[in-house]
Amino acid sequence: MKVQEEILATIKAFDRIIIHRHQRPDPDALGSQVGLAEILRASFPKKEIYQVGGPVEGLDYLALMQTIPDDLYKGALVIVTDTANAPRISDQRYDQGAKLIKIDHHPNDEPYGELVWVNTKASSCSEMIVSFWQMFQNELTMTQEAARLLYAGIVGDTGRFLYPATTATTLRLAAELLDYGFDAPKINRQLDQVSRSVARLSGYVYENIEIDEIGAGKVILSQELQQRFGVVDSETSAVVSLPGKIDEVMAWAIFVEQPEGYYRVRMRSKGPVINEIAKRHHGGGHPLASGANAKDLEEVAVIYQEIQAAIKEFQAE
Ligand code: AMP
Repeated sequence: MKVQEEILATIKAFDRIIIHRHQRPDPDALGSQVGLAEILRASFPKKEIYQVGGPVEGLDYLALMQTIPDDLYKGALVIVTDTANAPRISDQRYDQGAKLIKIDHHPNDEPYGELVWVNTKASSCSEMIVSFWQMFQNELTMTQEAARLLYAGIVGDTGRFLYPATTATTLRLAAELLDYGFDAPKINRQLDQVSRSVARLSGYVYENIEIDEIGAGKVILSQELQQRFGVVDSETSAVVSLPGKIDEVMAWAIFVEQPEGYYRVRMRSKGPVINEIAKRHHGGGHPLASGANAKDLEEVAVIYQEIQAAIKEFQAE
């Protein structure tokens, strides 16, 4: 039996299903979580389906969360989407259900749950949910709202079909979603537009990025700077991809100082593998898009050196 068939059989066997995703959600986390929730609500109207987790941080145009009491977990099926490791799951009650399913497209560093479906070749977890629906189209119902959410997730994680994880399958599945008639230009615009503060911060990133002779890029966003520009950590996600627009840049990191003094590290690459670096610094992620943490500027410097080394290794191949 394929794991997708096992997942569908398990979904059918439970009356209550609670769906989680990762902390500090991005469009793919919310798209896969709530897209799946919407499909299940439409397909199984008698089941109770819940979407839970912490604040959606500026993505409320996509979806809102539900607040549920602890006792609802008793006898429930819990599904977690888009989350590689258990500590990153938003709402730590995920282990209080009767059965746990993991659906994800990140490297399977921690295969939590009784059923694990991981496809690292998928552009996004939303793409996996669309393929799940497509596989069982006679039993699962797509809705316009589910299509809008899943499309947003795919667009978010592929950088609007720019990143190498975009495949022919990604485009085919996205095309199927467009048939559901949601306002795609509107969602594209919502995903792309930034506040004036973030626009100013973008100017800072372009002005101040440090790029060495092999294309390693570095930007440090101190607390003082974030306050000066009037932005909070979650808004810095909008500037992470910007250095990639510069032709000389091969791989880069944005170091965002946190109120506690440590740095959240957001790394991206056009080829050199960077998730091994992230893993060495309390993080992880995809080969070309990872996140980590640095306790101080010394560790920031070490991470930058490791990025330089990864580029050199890549060039030598
Ligand atoms: P971000 O820069 O926060 O958008 O993260 C990019 C990717 O890195 C995410 O999709 C995650 O897969 C991964 N990631 C970020 N932070 C962490 C972390 N602390 N631990 C593990 N993976 C992470």
